[in-house]
Amino acid sequence: MEFALIDGLKREPFLGGRGNCGMCGSAMVAKCGPRVMHHWAHFGRRNCDPWWENETPWHRAWKSQFPIECREVVHFADDGEIHRADIKTPTGIVIEVQHSAMTDAERLSREAFYQNMVWVIDGAPFSKNFDFYHLLPCPKSDVAKDLLWLKAKRHQDGANAGIFLRISEVRKDDPGVEKETWKGGGEMHFLCHGYPEIDLAYCGHQQYDWVRPRRTWLDASCPVYIDFGEDWLARLQTYDETGLACIFRVAKRKFIHDVMTEASAADIATRFYPLPGSR
Ligand SMILES: [Zn+2]
Repeated sequence: MEFALIDGLKREPFLGGRGNCGMCGSAMVAKCGPRVMHHWAHFGRRNCDPWWENETPWHRAWKSQFPIECREVVHFADDGEIHRADIKTPTGIVIEVQHSAMTDAERLSREAFYQNMVWVIDGAPFSKNFDFYHLLPCPKSDVAKDLLWLKAKRHQDGANAGIFLRISEVRKDDPGVEKETWKGGGEMHFLCHGYPEIDLAYCGHQQYDWVRPRRTWLDASCPVYIDFGEDWLARLQTYDETGLACIFRVAKRKFIHDVMTEASAADIATRFYPLPGSR
């Protein structure tokens, strides 16, 4: 852990440091060897929180984006269960930064416990299995409402560059058809042929394919943001009423601003705020 309590205050580890766990109160010892990331460990026994994952530099880098009082925050449930959240913001949103794979059961129990939470997943371990394909227009735009996109998939070069049908054209043969009732048929259009009105409606959505996905993140009920080491995060989501999966790009700066500002995890990156320094 990054913090132990000394005289009731959160302290970072230092050579020879002794403190107490902020959750169970037992003695902790600072581990500050030359080849380990400096951390606190429970003296003589394993961590008191079974959900705790050994931290990596990636975890620490995420936590360091937030004030000390927001990191390693003990959270109590009404039934007395307690856990240590990686990050909890002043508005009450919990951020769990997760490097390792996780079972469905553990994901479900954490989502039920924290409720108002988001996942930030380290994409580095599976980035070679995660392909980004063509951009999609904002699903709320007028142009997007008429379009049906073919699902992108690794090695499907056409669909990956963008192939769509127009519902308005399909209706000439099949009046009354909607996106969710479309059964096939219609003329294919290729995005690469140039559709500036579609390009202009882009607001962050994009097709992807995740080969051998860590499926639990696709089933999550709380928002999932994947960190591929860029200055943006990829939020997993459903694009439209066809059920097409997409990612939505959110600048890290925007994400960090919004988790500190919004009251609900579901509202992150749904509203525009002028950011400091932007005009
Ligand atoms: Zn403890």
